[in-house]
Amino acid sequence: MTIDTSLLIGTAFEPGTEAPEPVLNPRTGALIVDVPEASLAQVDRAVASARTAFAHWSRTTPGERATALLKIADRIEAEAADFAKLEALNCGKPINLALNDEIPAIVDCWRFFAGAVRNMHGAIAGEYLAGFTSMVRRDAVGVVASIAPWNYPLMMMAWKLCPAIAGGNTVVFKPSEQTPLTAIKLARIMADILPEGVVNVVTGRGQTVGSYLINHPGIDMISITGDVATGKKVMEAAQKSVKRTHLELGGKAPVIVFDDADLGAVVEGLQAFGYYNAGQDCTAACRIYAGKKIYDRLVADLTSAVSTIRLGNADDTTNDIGPLISQRQRDRVASFVNRARELKHIEVTTGGEAMDQGFYYRPTVIAGARQEDEIVRREVFGPVVSITPFDDADQAIGWANDSDYGLASSIWTRDVGRAMSTAAQMRYGCTWINTHFMLCNEMPHGGLKQSGYGKDMSSYALEDYTVVRHIMLAHG
Ligand code: NAD
Repeated sequence: MTIDTSLLIGTAFEPGTEAPEPVLNPRTGALIVDVPEASLAQVDRAVASARTAFAHWSRTTPGERATALLKIADRIEAEAADFAKLEALNCGKPINLALNDEIPAIVDCWRFFAGAVRNMHGAIAGEYLAGFTSMVRRDAVGVVASIAPWNYPLMMMAWKLCPAIAGGNTVVFKPSEQTPLTAIKLARIMADILPEGVVNVVTGRGQTVGSYLINHPGIDMISITGDVATGKKVMEAAQKSVKRTHLELGGKAPVIVFDDADLGAVVEGLQAFGYYNAGQDCTAACRIYAGKKIYDRLVADLTSAVSTIRLGNADDTTNDIGPLISQRQRDRVASFVNRARELKHIEVTTGGEAMDQGFYYRPTVIAGARQEDEIVRREVFGPVVSITPFDDADQAIGWANDSDYGLASSIWTRDVGRAMSTAAQMRYGCTWINTHFMLCNEMPHGGLKQSGYGKDMSSYALEDYTVVRHIMLAHG
């Protein structure tokens, strides 16, 4: 497979002119390819190209923009196998999951926003002052700097680009320096379909290219999915020229398991949703609170289920999860588990060690964790789930909400009334009942508190990427 490493600026594909960033295969640690970083002058040209394109693109009709999005969806679908292969190579994802879970959801995201923008309404027109007609429009914000993380590179790109360009904005997109390969491949397709400059793609590290981009005076809005600390830097950069921001930051999803829950369903759910993508997921079901009566059985059954998760097999079609993205991330996960293990009340019931291969870490269950423990409070972003027993519903809800994060949560019970009353008290952007992790393009995804405040997917994302305007016409 030849691997493209070019930037897209306007219609030009050109190499970055700064230092190469090594992109590694997380399964082995070996180099896949060096991707040169964009220079600041190249970022300037990308921003200028997006600004020029905005004048035309923001005046196209929703139907015209929808047609372009649908064509891009068709091309991703037609090249699904190649996209999945490249994503699996760059991130270490099991190929079947990249191909059968992620690509269809990505294609659907492009198609959803093609439809959604044609149904976006400025709600009101009428005479609110005698002799004047008022109406409300929704228009594009301007040039958006979009910055993506490494855990779902092509999906995060879709979540960011679709509502932005459907809404009439133009974009300078920066993938994570660790996972730029599918973004570069998609750039080729977008350059065939979109007018010059509507989407530009620049590669590079956060501290250099990312930081320059978010501080750029030619940028009107910053959209970022990443760490809370990075989100705070975005807010600092934004305040200088009052840029709009869209922040999707981390998570530490609580899972409340009441004594009456269907234990088999809980174990199956946690085995899947606590460890999917090796736990590198901001909604991962990682912080379990279990009722006292179900706690021992849950620890035992989850431990045996998690010990059967398959990873690291030479035949990738048999793997359930992949490695972590980097040695740094694997070491970070290991250090969280090692610090937890030193506490007397904690038992690591399965996993708890790195594998002697690439950046793999064994799926891990940590029993007996307490609310004040680091492993319960901080985002690990790895295949590690903690379980904490609770006495009653108020304690469980209090602990669940006692977090700086507020992205996703779940409740497991057979009692519908308890499920609804608990869900109403959760301070999270999403609360699932008797499931976890399930997303669909029609529904909003985004957080509260330090998880940020932008919504991805759904018509709410289109609202985030457009501005409400009042137009008033004097009759006389
Ligand atoms: P990160 O914040 O280190 O990097 C994210 C992106 O920001 C990368 O492209 C990086 O180059 C860029 N960046 C870093 N520093 C920057 C700076 N100073 N200025 C501009 N850009 C900068 O995060 P990561 O390690 O790539 O991703 C993991 C994090 O993302 C986790 O905390 C995870 O929870 C979060 N995440 C959140 C969601 C969500 O929907 N809320 C989804 C996926 C990941």
